[in-house]
Amino acid sequence: MSEKTTMAEELSKELLISRRNGFWDVTDDVIAQADEFCEGYKDFLNRSKTERESVAATIEMAEKAGFVPFDSAKKYQPGDKVYMNNRGKSIILAVIGTEGCKNGVHISAAHIDSPRLDLKPYPLYETNDLAMFKTHYYGGVKKYQWTAIPLAMHGRIVRRDGSYVDVCIGEEEGEPQFCVTDLLPHLSSEQSAKTLGKAIEGEALNILVGSRPVRTEDGKGDKLFKLNVMKLLHDKYGIIEEDLVSSEIEFVPAFKANDYGFDRSMIGSYGHDDRVCAYPAVMALLHCGTPKKTALTVLADKEEIGSIGNTGMRSSFLSYFVADLAKQDGVEVRDVLTKSKCLSADVCAAYDPTYASAYELNNSCFLNNGVSIMKYTGARGKSGTSDASAEFMGEIRGLLYRNNVLWQTGELGKIDVGGGGTVAQFIADLNVDVVDVGVPVLSMHAPLEVVSKLDVYMEYRAFHVFFAE
Ligand code: MN
Ligand code: MN
Repeated sequence: MSEKTTMAEELSKELLISRRNGFWDVTDDVIAQADEFCEGYKDFLNRSKTERESVAATIEMAEKAGFVPFDSAKKYQPGDKVYMNNRGKSIILAVIGTEGCKNGVHISAAHIDSPRLDLKPYPLYETNDLAMFKTHYYGGVKKYQWTAIPLAMHGRIVRRDGSYVDVCIGEEEGEPQFCVTDLLPHLSSEQSAKTLGKAIEGEALNILVGSRPVRTEDGKGDKLFKLNVMKLLHDKYGIIEEDLVSSEIEFVPAFKANDYGFDRSMIGSYGHDDRVCAYPAVMALLHCGTPKKTALTVLADKEEIGSIGNTGMRSSFLSYFVADLAKQDGVEVRDVLTKSKCLSADVCAAYDPTYASAYELNNSCFLNNGVSIMKYTGARGKSGTSDASAEFMGEIRGLLYRNNVLWQTGELGKIDVGGGGTVAQFIADLNVDVVDVGVPVLSMHAPLEVVSKLDVYMEYRAFHVFFAE
């Protein structure tokens, strides 16, 4: 090789960014650690298909690790571990740091709601001898993906007297499942001529829940198919039809998380967005020891519909919690928040060669290249994003570099093709430094999403070193 070629090679190594597959930058030991970490993650996925189940599973793990419910009247010491359960649908875990919160706190924030089919207030009806549920989809879904797949029913039904029952049908072996029917291809010439978005409309996402009536002497009677379903629900859960008015019932894919690929390098599952960030954020906090700055992991509800509601990230529950910590340390909450830092943990779109035209190759994120630090999300000229500062990007990039955490950066697809948001902007509203650090996902928001095990593990490592700062 000529001297000039060698010089150019050395120069490019020094000056140009390397974007090779992350596999070449980690040892087999790290791959093995990633695979092992993901066994716990798959278990979490299968136990946590709704926000309520995610909170319950998180509390179970946290209590095993010594966390106790937060009491604002109590005085906490460095190393104390607490959690604040907000209405069973969002949660904050915290480990008190040796400095307390006076120099700011370190926050990781993810969301635990996912796209799904919710029941309408009056869901149950019968038509042509079939019993059905009317649904209203939640979050950004491609509706055609929700037909002809097995669905399970999860959620809570509150009776008139305030008592409630938690429901989960279709997950265990031997339990019945449900589905939205689709039209056979033989009769689909009209449907197939429609655009993808119109072929299955919201009002067509009706769930098949029964096809046998209550038996009567003469075979006569009104709404016997609907009545039979209601009778079965009453027998099992002690509820009447009106109780469904005060319920949060979610129909989600009934299949379980599984390894994908001959090499088992990936996990296919419902609900990676955003459990793939929530689980690593929780585990990193559980393993953070006694940090210098008080460390928080926030799991929020309602991100998929705009972070609204009292369990969403636009609610004041996070700032109230930090205010309680500030009061303990005799400082103002605004001073704590202003000095605080946050990794907003949400997924990004992984480059999909099958749909290459939606991505700009140079600024895409790739499976197995590690966590993606997203300076901004949003759409139409960065609208609806917090756009992290160069300084904070630099700080987090340096942190991950020093600690051998694989990272990459990019955008969510081509400009003007679409876009999306995260909770980052609502945390930025509190005058906290925040940037998105998440895991690339294939088929995001589909009933079956795919992530790389190495990326999931790097997400955990990213939080771990962030809390240790
Ligand atoms: Mn998300
Ligand atoms: Mn999402």
